[in-house]
Amino acid sequence: HLRIRLVQRKGVKQNRLIPAPQQIGKEKATLLMLVRNRELSDALKSMRAMEDRFNRKFRYPWVFLNDEPFTHDFINYTTGMASGKTYYGSIKKDQWSIPHHIDQDKVKVNMEKLVSKNVIYAGSMSYRHMCRYNSGFFYRHPLLADYQWYWRVEPGVDYYCDIDYDVFEFMRTHDKMYGFVMAMYEYQVTIETLWDTTKEFIRTHPQYLASNNSLDFFVDNHPPTKAGEKEITGDYNLCHFWSNFEIANLGFWRSQAYQDYFSYLDSVGGFFYERWGDAPVHSLAVGLFLPKSKVHHFGDIGYRHPPYSRCPQDVESHLSGRCLCSRRDHFDDDGYSCLPRWWNVAGQNVGAGIKLMD
Ligand code: GDP
Ligand code: MN
Repeated sequence: HLRIRLVQRKGVKQNRLIPAPQQIGKEKATLLMLVRNRELSDALKSMRAMEDRFNRKFRYPWVFLNDEPFTHDFINYTTGMASGKTYYGSIKKDQWSIPHHIDQDKVKVNMEKLVSKNVIYAGSMSYRHMCRYNSGFFYRHPLLADYQWYWRVEPGVDYYCDIDYDVFEFMRTHDKMYGFVMAMYEYQVTIETLWDTTKEFIRTHPQYLASNNSLDFFVDNHPPTKAGEKEITGDYNLCHFWSNFEIANLGFWRSQAYQDYFSYLDSVGGFFYERWGDAPVHSLAVGLFLPKSKVHHFGDIGYRHPPYSRCPQDVESHLSGRCLCSRRDHFDDDGYSCLPRWWNVAGQNVGAGIKLMD
């Protein structure tokens, strides 16, 4: 049954048709978007898909973060699209600027070198701030203080399948800390020294290396890590979880292990001297500090972040009408996808309720 409700949110008054509530999300969770004002229409597109496919059933709140103040338009339109409450936060200046210990001349020289190699975002300073913020600061934002879980959403993405269960509840009840959908190779020139820096960090903080970690996802033919092992060996194959989609536990980023790791990475300056992405940084931390059983591949979620999409492969997801995407045109076993490696180290799962990974 549909009934008309008068919805009042932060001064935005409107008449909307909203289905009677059946199931409201009970987890301490939020949908999280870091976004610029000029990305409003892409932000709305992502929200529409997220609301239609998942959130209208659960009405989790949205948190929007920006390094600049949000415009009234941005606030009004996104609040209008949300089925849950909306919150808008700005980012502290020192979390979006070059720290004092960084040698700005070296940054400039290295940036020019990277530009000459034609790497995407090579010449962008704001991109570096964004990657550093997503690596080390988002989880400390005051608006996230009361949450345990977040689902990262970016402007301009699409979700292809109805998600009929509460993904946050799933994460909690299955003892998961980090969920992803796509995995791929990073551009080597953007992370020249990230792997050596990470090895050095583990050498000085061996207590953070989890047993049953995912080293064999990052290093080809890596033997299983033994408990109490103090060093990591081998070359990084550049595999990482694509972090524009994340369903994860904020407690992991707030842990001593991760905060020490981020501080170390930040101290050596690779976010500026190179162009370290938050994706490999998150991935290496998740893969090294957590047992692989706490990492979940959401095989039942169809997702697009240009230029790549992936679509659930099982028959039922399509026969039931749950998903609308092409099973043939998918990224999972593309030559550029690392998912087959993940299946090798963790087993293949199709989706929640279909076959679960342990
Ligand atoms: P890509 O996915 O690596 O191509 O990078 P995006 O341009 O999508 O940026 C990643 C995320 O950070 C998206 O949610 C963007 O909206 C956001 N973002 C990127 N740069 C900025 C910025 O300068 N300011 C703000 N507020 N958000 C940004
Ligand atoms: Mn993006």
